[in-house]
Amino acid sequence: MLPDVVIVGAGPVGATLALGLADSDVAVTVLDARAKGETARGERSLALSHGARLILERRGVWGVLAEQADAVTAITDIDISQAGGFGMTRLCAADHDLPALGYVVSYRALQAALDAALARSGIEVRHGVTATAVGGTSAYAAIDVAGAGADVITARLAAVADGTGAAVAGVARQRHDYGQVALIARIWREEPHAGLAYERFTPEGPVALLPEGDHYGLVWTATASRAEQLLALDDASFLAALAQHFGNRTHGFIRVADRRTFALALEFARTTVGPRCVVLGNAAQALHPVAGQGFNLGLRDAAELAQIVVDTPRDSIGDAAMLARYARSRRTDRWAGIAFTHGLVSVFGSDLPFLRWPRGLALTLLDALPGARRAFTRAVMFGLR
Ligand SMILES: Cc1cc2nc3c(=O)[nH]c(=O)nc-3n(C[C@H](O)[C@H](O)[C@H](O)COP(=O)(O)OP(=O)(O)OC[C@H]3O[C@@H](n4cnc5c(N)ncnc54)[C@H](O)[C@@H]3O)c2cc1C
Repeated sequence: MLPDVVIVGAGPVGATLALGLADSDVAVTVLDARAKGETARGERSLALSHGARLILERRGVWGVLAEQADAVTAITDIDISQAGGFGMTRLCAADHDLPALGYVVSYRALQAALDAALARSGIEVRHGVTATAVGGTSAYAAIDVAGAGADVITARLAAVADGTGAAVAGVARQRHDYGQVALIARIWREEPHAGLAYERFTPEGPVALLPEGDHYGLVWTATASRAEQLLALDDASFLAALAQHFGNRTHGFIRVADRRTFALALEFARTTVGPRCVVLGNAAQALHPVAGQGFNLGLRDAAELAQIVVDTPRDSIGDAAMLARYARSRRTDRWAGIAFTHGLVSVFGSDLPFLRWPRGLALTLLDALPGARRAFTRAVMFGLR
């Protein structure tokens, strides 16, 4: 049978979309370039909001994930401060009567849990199949595939969650290079983390420590040359530099492992829909990790698209009206997420002295006004609509 929807990419976002369609009568085929059982990316820690947890719970994935040792770590408090200026605030889950503000999740463990859920669902997943071009007409999507059984697959809708949007012709993308890299590493401290995360804005850029299993995941933003220097330091000197960077906010670092870097850029599709085609997840927007928003936006893309497809009569799946409905429903959350993250990097990641005062004021107001703090925390947890 011709599929109604072909999903390109069974990463966390594509798999979440597929699972959202599992109990409907929509015919779905999922393609993924990776071999069965492999993970596409190196291990990384994903920052998940409470809203993202609810999406994964509804897909029956969260329980399986949370049972695995160290696959999920709750963030109960976040200490936010700036170097060289006044102002700090602390966001607490207890203020919201929630078990956590967010979670740090292992990419590999999440991918394995999603793969297992897809296998249980009976949805057709074709591993080792790469989409080389996604196009089509106003009547159908056409996906050229390479790999096992190279062919052209047609469907009412191509949903592209390949992490880059590279295969899609006709979706214009925009890129802003921050001229910075993120140095990531695992860090151990004398004291257990007790669910407390740290985010500090410094003239070099933001630096964060996220609780993860028995250690912290470090994300240290710096210029490429500074990151090179930091990579070259021996462990003791690196930990001393980290302690200096965090000033009086935290200390007692005793061990570091797995230092590596990746380039930071904002990349987004100007429009997420084209004829019979939609891009979602990182294929639609790849954000700076400063606010931990990117992956959560992607999961909300998947949840919303699944709902709209299920609510659309079969003959209309993938038509221009359905795609316009999807684009409209995601517009505010998507642009707010992009603008919020980019604004945070521009204002809090800048070393312009005249910005220190407004930054301190913003943090002080956030700390002093419980209503503002609650609204800010809610936006970080559930997105902006
Ligand atoms: C270098 C780097 C580091 C990151 N670090 C962090 C971090 O520390 N914390 C955080 O929260 N987020 C991080 N992110 C972002 C996070 O990885 C993404 O938000 C998340 O992976 C998006 O999920 P996705 O499903 O959209 O894409 P992906 O995870 O990229 O999955 C894409 C899937 O599509 C498949 N695929 C790709 N091309 C094709 C094709 N042509 N045909 C068929 N299948 C294809 C791949 O095999 C893969 O399974 C990082 C991103 C990058 C690039």
